[in-house]
Amino acid sequence: MDILVLNSGSSSLKYQYLNSQTGEVYGKGLIERIGISGSNIEHKKGDRKVVIERNLPSHKEAVKLLFEVLTHEDYGIIKNIDDIKAIGHRIVHGGSIINPRLVDDEALEILEDAIRFAPLHNPGAIQGIKGVEEVAPGKPNVICVDTGFHATIPAENALYAIPYEYYEKDAIKRYGAHGTSHKYITLKVAEKLGKKPEEVNVITCHLGNGASITAVKNGQSYDTSMGLTPLEGLVMGTRSGDIDPAVVFNIGKQYNLSYDEMDTLLNKKSGLLGVSGVSSDFRDVLLASQEGNERAKLALDMFINRAKKYVGSYYALLERVDAIAFAGGIGENSDYAREHILEGLENLGIKVDVEANKGARDEKEISAEDSKVKVFIIPTNEELMIARETQNIVENL
Ligand code: ADP
Repeated sequence: MDILVLNSGSSSLKYQYLNSQTGEVYGKGLIERIGISGSNIEHKKGDRKVVIERNLPSHKEAVKLLFEVLTHEDYGIIKNIDDIKAIGHRIVHGGSIINPRLVDDEALEILEDAIRFAPLHNPGAIQGIKGVEEVAPGKPNVICVDTGFHATIPAENALYAIPYEYYEKDAIKRYGAHGTSHKYITLKVAEKLGKKPEEVNVITCHLGNGASITAVKNGQSYDTSMGLTPLEGLVMGTRSGDIDPAVVFNIGKQYNLSYDEMDTLLNKKSGLLGVSGVSSDFRDVLLASQEGNERAKLALDMFINRAKKYVGSYYALLERVDAIAFAGGIGENSDYAREHILEGLENLGIKVDVEANKGARDEKEISAEDSKVKVFIIPTNEELMIARETQNIVENL
């Protein structure tokens, strides 16, 4: 089934029009600077790229432009908006929503409530859905929530050790993120191992600007490094990941910073960027480190060691690990990251084939022959996962 997948951010809208069975992508693109001056769409159909600049004050206008482009007689993909059978929307934080479902008033209300957990992401996603409803009313809109895959995490791993009433009253707990990706990787690994998803234990490493590692037990998320929000866990491009919460009180008091300012400090100014002072981009930091920049080297070592710590602790939690998989911009492209994160774990039966790993980018096994735990690169495909989930819902209407 041909599905339009939308991934709306606060001022952007990424899209892909693809076939949910074959994965064939007919066209894709990105609309940027929605609600800001200089908005534009960059549309790709095969090798062809079209850029159109247009004032887009809202997501509704952005969706209008998208549908114009999709039906354009020259670089468009479909003849008529009616050809679009369903739209799958990526939602970063689904609150109490777990499974993919059709959009209705109740679903929108839950997503509105979850804005408190994803203030940067959910408003854009809601605007995107409303934009489609206005521009193309009556089409099935399906929401696929990133937090859904992690709903299986048991309470002993999901709760924070704070007074229980905050969990009961305010639903404060670890929701995780990147769930669509971790699920896709898990299914791929199961396929590669020739097993059913419920038979595999995997540590899935989604390492991009935002990064998270998940312990997958019997095909289900059992623990994950991101928490109430994507701030917890690994050292990321601009996020600190795990810190002692007292750091917040300490710096906040010392410099008289507001909660919002502390939020910006930890989400936007920390991580690789904050430590290295060079860049939030892994490639830049790696290059600077190779050129002798000591803070870049420190940032890199912190990134690697934090990730290694999660792999080790998830190994302990899972007790048996069949495979470790790498995805995301760093996981898929950086042999350095993969080699060093798993370096020294031979006693756990994890051994990377350094030669096979070198320069590897595509889907590939990179573990040594005598490694008990298989190691894979699995290029993630969140759009395909969303398209499949959307098809499942629409087929049963
Ligand atoms: P996002 O979380 O924004 O989707 P991506 O998954 O695109 O991020 O990952 C971006 C990260 O991937 C950046 O830190 C970038 O430096 C890193 N990356 C991309 N290509 C390479 C490469 N060839 N080697 C090392 N890192 C890379």
